[in-house]
Amino acid sequence: MEMKDLRIQCENCFGLCCRALYFSKMDGFPENKRAGKACSYLCAASRCSIYSQLGEKHLKGCMNYDCFGAGQHMSAWIKQQNIYITDKQMDTAVMESFHKLMKLHQQLWYLKQAILLIEEHHLHIDTTGELEKLEILLRKEPDKITKPDIEISHDAVNGILRRVSACIQTKYANDTHIIGSSFLGKSFKKQSLKGCDFSMKLLIGCDFTDADLAYVNFLGSDVRDANFSNVDLRCSLFLTQFQINSAKGNKATMLPDYLKRPRTWNK
Ligand code: SF4
Repeated sequence: MEMKDLRIQCENCFGLCCRALYFSKMDGFPENKRAGKACSYLCAASRCSIYSQLGEKHLKGCMNYDCFGAGQHMSAWIKQQNIYITDKQMDTAVMESFHKLMKLHQQLWYLKQAILLIEEHHLHIDTTGELEKLEILLRKEPDKITKPDIEISHDAVNGILRRVSACIQTKYANDTHIIGSSFLGKSFKKQSLKGCDFSMKLLIGCDFTDADLAYVNFLGSDVRDANFSNVDLRCSLFLTQFQINSAKGNKATMLPDYLKRPRTWNK
């Protein structure tokens, strides 16, 4: 599977995230709904009836969401199996398979990035080995992927990501130490943060304008409304499309090839 296959393709999906996910108004979705129930804006053809208005309706949850390509993968299988999904309800088994696929696609996304970042021979071999195992797992029928499959893969991938992060940090980190886990609205403007570890940190509304973010680890961090104007993110670690969609940037923000520039960043 290529990095491009891990990008969301709503046009090749039966609106699975609009059915399978639990979501709330507070997170920028149109309504509070339980998992398995179709969003009331999803039409019979599995298309969003207000897609062109998501921006003006400020539905950030819908605009920012990313399934790592699990939607089109699962939809292709559903089609092949001739499974009928009703307008109102999603079958529990199909929903569970979709959730499992999303987790595996996310792991694959991170491993593919890791491969691009490391030069160390032994780490390259281990990462490639894990990547091959994951790709074999993803060739299974989605309904045959088990919970233990996911857990084993999750632990192995996390182990690799930890080693890659440690290796890169040792090589590139400067003297800036990041202490704490919550940095709501903090300004890091023009700071040299090369190699810093922001993984799993709350960075909502932080200002990174003109900062040096080379080799900064963003694994699982919450960057909603963080400002990346005039920043080069091409060598930052473990960014996802969801993180980029939920953050701010401008024309001068540089992104790696595998991330798509949000339309609002073209100013
Ligand atoms: S508003 Fe549209 S994109 Fe958002 S959940 Fe509903 S159908 Fe999906």
